[in-house]
Amino acid sequence: MNFAYNGLPARVLFGRGTLTRLAELMGEIGGKRALLLSTPAQRGQVEPLLALLGDAAVGLFAEAAMHTPLDISERAVATAQRAGADCVIALGGGSTIGLGKAIALRTDLPQIAVPTTYAGSEVTPILGQTEGGRKTTQRTLKVLPEAVLYDVNLTLTLPASMSATSGLNAIAHAVEGLYARDGNPIVSLMAEEGVRALAQALPRIVDRPGDIEARSDALYGAWLCGTVLGSAGMALHHKLCHTLGGSFNLPHAETHAVVLPHATAYNAAAAPDAMARLSRALGVAQDPAGALFDLGVRLGAPAGLKALGMSQVDLDRAADLAVENPYWNPRPIERPAIRRLLQAAFDGDRPA
Ligand code: NAD
Repeated sequence: MNFAYNGLPARVLFGRGTLTRLAELMGEIGGKRALLLSTPAQRGQVEPLLALLGDAAVGLFAEAAMHTPLDISERAVATAQRAGADCVIALGGGSTIGLGKAIALRTDLPQIAVPTTYAGSEVTPILGQTEGGRKTTQRTLKVLPEAVLYDVNLTLTLPASMSATSGLNAIAHAVEGLYARDGNPIVSLMAEEGVRALAQALPRIVDRPGDIEARSDALYGAWLCGTVLGSAGMALHHKLCHTLGGSFNLPHAETHAVVLPHATAYNAAAAPDAMARLSRALGVAQDPAGALFDLGVRLGAPAGLKALGMSQVDLDRAADLAVENPYWNPRPIERPAIRRLLQAAFDGDRPA
């Protein structure tokens, strides 16, 4: 066995009602004046923190948006500087946590991430940003949040449909970690356990969104899967999703949910050990790609790229873009096979 393992520094608090420990966590990262961040939609969920933190909160910037647009990041940095903030607290999904990272990149302010979806950005040193419709991604420890506070209660308001797609987004991080070129035994353990936790929890959440045990299991799984994304490289699946999201404006988590079974099927024969672990995590004897598709159906995930608003005429260009500057992948990237993959994902077929 040969491998390299790089652990990422992280202080993680996990539980129910942990939000009451926010001030304590601020003290631990040396923060005395926090700028709070949210999306417009989650403003109401964050506002009570202004009272909870008192003088330790110097403002709320509630303009976070998908894919971290440059102009919003610049306005947020100006707000942080005007308010004399010495740390940021991002409460929300990947969009809000991305904004916190964008501020940290430009100012070095320490961050506390308080995730409310399963996207996993809070434990990665990765930041995607958009300027003029172009998305660029970078990996730097400057953007890794210093502390993460998981409060299961905050996920209770995540609608069942978003819980399903966000959870499948998390599973996708783990699947690609299982066959990553820079994978290692620790990453594989986390990936397998993360998929197992989410695959068991998500159907329970879709049936009963208020099931606190299922919510807790899902958030635990999301933490593991996000940590995998932060520790190992991405491959074909993430490349396809970045292409479809960046160039065709398809929604992030939903696109992951649709593409994952097809990317898994594409790589299955080239990554037998990863598929064995994935099958075990999903509780099937074989064909984990089919099992992921069936899980999506069980969760009511979108049926195909067509259902997300993509046009048939764009599939050729999507295939061209996906084979340009490909990420490393266990199976070579072959244009005709990628085009067939995209057609199957578009139609919402079960992978062959
Ligand atoms: P999101 O953050 O865009 O949230 C979607 C909507 O749901 C928003 O309106 C948000 O306010 C709302 N919401 C979130 N949590 C809620 C809750 N508990 N209750 C009610 N409403 C809630 O969605 P996302 O899928 O978490 O994040 C997507 C973004 O994150 C993309 O830009 C993606 O590129 C990025 N991302 C980055 C990484 C990384 O490592 N850098 C990883 C995953 C995702």
